[in-house]
Amino acid sequence: MKLEVDGFGDFSTSLKRIRCKKKFFWVMFLLYIPIGILFGLIAGEPIILYVLFFWMMLTTLIGVWVMKTKCPRCGERFFSKSYGFNGWTSKCLHCKLLLFNVEKKSESSHKKA
Ligand SMILES: [Zn+2]
Repeated sequence: MKLEVDGFGDFSTSLKRIRCKKKFFWVMFLLYIPIGILFGLIAGEPIILYVLFFWMMLTTLIGVWVMKTKCPRCGERFFSKSYGFNGWTSKCLHCKLLLFNVEKKSESSHKKA
């Protein structure tokens, strides 16, 4: 298998998609408490339990969807290995492809010009 040293632009669209998925998951995860408070104030106790259960299931499904994301370079799962899931990582757990290579590389090239 040939690993690409530079030319990260080939992966830029895929990496952008992975970043969007990851952000979407964390937004859904972090909105759990505010949604609970909001529906608790608006609808009351019986409704809030259903809403929070639905929100938790939805976030779990999105987490599984993110976990199954494939790395554009090695084709393995980007955020998970056989022993678990790491949603905090910013690099592929298999080939170490960085999630933010394109922006950092383009920013540094703009500063030099
Ligand atoms: Zn990889």
